[in-house]
Amino acid sequence: MSLSPAARAAIDAHVRLLLAWNEAINLTAIRDPAEIARAHVLDSLSAVPLLSGLGVRRLLDLGSGGGFPGLPLAAALDLERALLVDSVGKKVRFLATAIGAAGLARSVAAEQERAETLARDPRDRGAWPAVAARAVAPLAELVELALPLLAPDGVLVAWKGASAEDEVAAAEPALRALRAGPVRLLDAAVPGLADHRLVVVPRWGPIDPRFPRGAAERRQQPL
Ligand code: SAH
Repeated sequence: MSLSPAARAAIDAHVRLLLAWNEAINLTAIRDPAEIARAHVLDSLSAVPLLSGLGVRRLLDLGSGGGFPGLPLAAALDLERALLVDSVGKKVRFLATAIGAAGLARSVAAEQERAETLARDPRDRGAWPAVAARAVAPLAELVELALPLLAPDGVLVAWKGASAEDEVAAAEPALRALRAGPVRLLDAAVPGLADHRLVVVPRWGPIDPRFPRGAAERRQQPL
């Protein structure tokens, strides 16, 4: 994949800051810069062909943590707008600093919020052409959290590993309830990350306003 010099510089700045902040707050278990490049950066960028093919210019990253996949994607795709959301304050403080260090503050923002709350905000509900989520929740839960945030023709892209097929099967009731699908599974094609898959979930119909339910209700009554 060819990255512009500006995208490369932005991603380098993000990774440098991640390594520095990781000494103080736990953002990633991976300490080796080369391994971060592969397991975090290249894994994030594996969605570039898909998202550029779909013409996505605005992206919401749910549960962004240390900024993956949203920050490298915003840099590589030169997105018009990206919002990185996480429920944990110190992670959002890292994200805001990383966005500044990467020179992306004009197009990228970080917010401390739970996905459930964001999905009730008229600014965000039904508003996003694409939602990205890596390592945030099982697909069935993610479908409930993310689909209400999608624009009518939007897509959820979930980063999954070897469990992808099983998670898709387990998510069937949620996919029906949220009017989502058909699901596509794409090989991430990242060297050394052979079992990584992108699960692509389109929205096709109106979404019941009772979704997403709170965490306790989701646990008590899985779809
Ligand atoms: N996407 C990052 C981080 C994964 S860890 C990566 O792949 O490296 C999961 C992150 O999701 C955590 O930072 C956690 O705080 C956040 N998270 C989990 N549930 C959430 C929710 N309901 N709303 C917002 N953030 C959530």
